[in-house]
Amino acid sequence: MAATVGVIVVAAGSGSRLGAELPKAFVSIGGRSILQRALESVLGMSEPAQIVVVVPAERLTLAQDEVRAAAGSAIEYASVVVGGATRQSSVVAGLDALWPDVGVVLVHDAARPFTPTALFEAVVARVRSSGQGVVPGLPVADTLKRMDADVALETVDRSLLSAIQTPQGFPRIELTEAYAAATQDYTDDAAVFAAAGHTVRVILGDALAFKITTPWDLRRAESLIGTGGFRSGIGIDIHAYDESVPLWLGGLHWPDEPGLAGHSDGDALSHAICDALLSAAGLGDLGSRFGTTDPRFAGAHGEVFLRATVELVAGAGFDIQNVAVQVIGNRPRLAARRG
Ligand code: C5P
Repeated sequence: MAATVGVIVVAAGSGSRLGAELPKAFVSIGGRSILQRALESVLGMSEPAQIVVVVPAERLTLAQDEVRAAAGSAIEYASVVVGGATRQSSVVAGLDALWPDVGVVLVHDAARPFTPTALFEAVVARVRSSGQGVVPGLPVADTLKRMDADVALETVDRSLLSAIQTPQGFPRIELTEAYAAATQDYTDDAAVFAAAGHTVRVILGDALAFKITTPWDLRRAESLIGTGGFRSGIGIDIHAYDESVPLWLGGLHWPDEPGLAGHSDGDALSHAICDALLSAAGLGDLGSRFGTTDPRFAGAHGEVFLRATVELVAGAGFDIQNVAVQVIGNRPRLAARRG
């Protein structure tokens, strides 16, 4: 693999302000981790890039699984390395893993999972055209005051200020040298780069590149992708009667009734529930999840599909609140076994 752009995604922070059990990058938003979502933005770039993901040592295996899941066929472009105690040392670990051909390096916080792909591309383009450091920034909307304890002193001229985001882009050699020369801890890469005497330009950032720091930010992220609300789905299944097979419906055997034709046991009731649940969770349908060509499902009872579906739906971050089913057919008589 070769690439002239390298993207270092730093995800080695503990994220203690989020108050979650897992480090921040591994917290799920609607079934996919913050890290996976951040990687999806990077992977959307039209130009191939080397991706180095920097993670805490104790989450190396989990991170490798997530990177594999996000990168798919581009997995050869991605690698995972262990970070350090500070963001700065994590970035150095990422820099050390860059391929020789990489000339432009972007450093991105995994904690900004909704950063649009276009922002990565804009930063790369500007680094190339300027040969300087480039960071996205947003104008500050609030009035800013200098403080003395809780006393507001003078108003700071906000037109002179910018709220800086990531990805931050740099010529690779200059950034590596700047990090090697850094004698103190800085909160972003632009500060390290500037301390080495280089110029950093600010381009217009994007509100979607906000950083998830607190539980409030996480909730905001959830509402952005439409989780946290109630979802419902509809499933319908129709099978022809087949007198030669036993009837299975709703996971139950119905003796002395004509059965239902199908690759599995023909339990249309269970299948309809699966379709409704998968649809609500945005996970496709029974056919695409458990294909009829798969020998594992030949003759399988409805319960097999239901269990697998419940697992998928839970894995996507949803709780099932209720299921309602309507059966249309004159056989069997359901009333006695309705419960
Ligand atoms: O803590 P903060 O939100 O400022 O961290 C910004 C980014 O830097 C996060 O994506 C975090 O995972 C990363 N980081 C890191 N190594 C550290 C501390 C922070 O990779 N030691």
